[in-house]
Amino acid sequence: MKLGCHVSIAKGLTKAAEQAQALGADTFQIFTKNPRGLKPKKINVEDAIKGVAFCKENEITVICHTPYITNLSTPKADLQEVTIRSIVEDLNIAEAYGAIGAVVHCGKHVGEGEEYGLKRMIETLDIILEQYDGPTQLLLENTAGQGTEMGLDPQTLMNIRNQTNYPEKIGFCFDTCHAFAAGQWNEETFEEFITLAEETGYLEHIKVIHFNDSKAPFKSRKDRHEKIGKGEIGSKALQKFLHCEKLKDIPFILETPVEKEEEYKEEILYLKELVSAGKGE
Ligand SMILES: [Zn+2]
Ligand SMILES: [Zn+2]
Repeated sequence: MKLGCHVSIAKGLTKAAEQAQALGADTFQIFTKNPRGLKPKKINVEDAIKGVAFCKENEITVICHTPYITNLSTPKADLQEVTIRSIVEDLNIAEAYGAIGAVVHCGKHVGEGEEYGLKRMIETLDIILEQYDGPTQLLLENTAGQGTEMGLDPQTLMNIRNQTNYPEKIGFCFDTCHAFAAGQWNEETFEEFITLAEETGYLEHIKVIHFNDSKAPFKSRKDRHEKIGKGEIGSKALQKFLHCEKLKDIPFILETPVEKEEEYKEEILYLKELVSAGKGE
């Protein structure tokens, strides 16, 4: 089972991969570009080639995350255009980094209503995916349902995927904190959720798990990450993901709040303890 965390790409892919390895991770996530901006980015090709080779040699799985300020459902033509251009570029950067997928948040309908928002999101996805044919998948992330965010549950996410012209280019990123805050699962309903995820076909398309505890309570619809075992979900409930046979081939990425990346070393160790503890119980 692959366990890792989000790391900085500031010093390039090779350094990011080395840092991940030093933290005890065999998977890691990086931003394609500044998460708060959409400025086009020129990547260092030499570094990318070196980094990809390093990851291959060390069997490290790379995940990319796209900036937050795009909106796949925006009614505004100019923001839609920027979103499209930016995400097509993110897919190409992710491919150059050897990433299996580029995570993107589901759209916000910003008051236009959910029906409009979903339709617009599918439209935008089609324009993006028409322009990208590489091996990296676009990974739609479930949301906590903050504000006008859409895409909280497996059915909606599968409907979006199925209604695009390119379902094969779309996978999912499942965030444990978002799903908990959206009221999708908790300790009591974990098995029910997995069954639903399987029955809807959602589970087989999950390519990465964002493994986070939640500062905000169940069904609060607030996106506030917390360290594993320190939040409202708790380690006993989160451990169910680590022990679930059906999820064992999916990389788990921590996006928990840290002051320094070095703190992830301890948290990854803790995850490894949770994996082995209670096995075969
Ligand atoms: Zn996430
Ligand atoms: Zn989040």
